[in-house]
Amino acid sequence: MTARVSTHRYSVVIVLVAALMAPSATAQTKIAPDPNRYSLQQDIELGQEAAAEARKQLPMLDDEQVDDYVEDVGETLVEAIPAEFRHAGFRYAFDVVNQKEINAFALPGGPMFLNRGMIEAARTEAQMASVMAHEISHVALRHGTAQATKGQKFQIGAIAGQILGAIVGGAAGTAIAQGSQFGLGAYFLKYSREYERQADLLGAQIMARAGYDPREMANMFQIIENEGGRSGPEWLSSHPNPGNRSTAITNEARMLRVQGNANTGRFPSIQARLRGMSPAYTAEQIARGQARRRTVGTSGARVEVASPAAQFRTYTPARFLRVSVPANWAPVDAGDTVAYAPEGGVFDADGHMAFTHGVQIGVAQGGSGDLRRDTEQLLRSFALGNPDLRLAGSARRESVGGREGMTQPLTNTSDVTGQREYVSLSTTQLRDGSLLYLIGVAPESEARTYDSAFRRVRASLQIADR
Ligand SMILES: [Zn+2]
Repeated sequence: MTARVSTHRYSVVIVLVAALMAPSATAQTKIAPDPNRYSLQQDIELGQEAAAEARKQLPMLDDEQVDDYVEDVGETLVEAIPAEFRHAGFRYAFDVVNQKEINAFALPGGPMFLNRGMIEAARTEAQMASVMAHEISHVALRHGTAQATKGQKFQIGAIAGQILGAIVGGAAGTAIAQGSQFGLGAYFLKYSREYERQADLLGAQIMARAGYDPREMANMFQIIENEGGRSGPEWLSSHPNPGNRSTAITNEARMLRVQGNANTGRFPSIQARLRGMSPAYTAEQIARGQARRRTVGTSGARVEVASPAAQFRTYTPARFLRVSVPANWAPVDAGDTVAYAPEGGVFDADGHMAFTHGVQIGVAQGGSGDLRRDTEQLLRSFALGNPDLRLAGSARRESVGGREGMTQPLTNTSDVTGQREYVSLSTTQLRDGSLLYLIGVAPESEARTYDSAFRRVRASLQIADR
């Protein structure tokens, strides 16, 4: 059937239909999609392109058990999409992003990304399913391209890039200023209140048809709202409350009959599994990695990284530590360590920070107090995560920050480029017996240029521990 029953863009026709299966007459709100100038094929292509970028830019959880589970729930919901909102060629796919913030988004044609934080925030499977049903509804109602239809003409080829801008902008919050890019991407990922109302209603209908209690959608939105935070959860900024949200969903739920019970019973064990994992990345962590990764370009081709500047700039990364690095290197948040790298010298390799150029400074606790032995121990722990790490010559006794220290040259294969890289590890002891280390990394072909920069960084260290 043709779903368009009205030529008015904003109107929704409400019809009451008797449910055949229900013992008592029930009714549900009929939803009429807006005009859409895009073809189904364009929805599919735009979504696929943006999804491929999203998978590159965002840290995927890549856990088979969690992915399988989310896919199973997703499949159940997709099968419950009413016939008039099924579109040839749409393929719903579900990825879990290893991100802390409560968020989810779906792209035209079906790809959906669900943050780990969303799964962790839900208290029941039905609550998690409610967000998915809501997102599926945006896709099935083709809200992204319908919104773009209203939003004037722009080059279709440019749109996928804009979606990406919005994804990255969304993940980054205010960390990256996306400027005008976000404005266009907003057609796909920031919905109008009317579309929110529609997605709530269709989402509730899909839930009931699938075998989930649609009232859990109202409960989930309450949880999301309560999470609050400084600027409110990201999800609510893309999916604004159309007004009386909970009441509207509850009213709709009253008209629906839940068909069977879709609950898999696996939700508690999946949540326990997530709790046992290392913490999810924050949007800010992801954005910092991405901001730099983007300098490489989406093709993965290396861009020129500028040589270390002759001029140095001094930082105080910790109360007891001062260090000077080439003025064209910037501080990089690298977990418990501090790092400095030139533009294009640090990457987010599937959520892990990977350097091709720059220095990283950290402290290893619990040593024996013997510099050589503790350095060897540290090297062994680095080798665990870097199987290609090799000694390149013998260690030199050399002062580090004016103290007795050691420097060990190494070679490695870069996670990012696959090329040989030069690694220089310098260590010295802190007064509490822990080991301060400084790792310099550069492509092997530039080892000589960088080694002199690493030497200057090493000499600049001022350690004031007591
Ligand atoms: Zn929405």
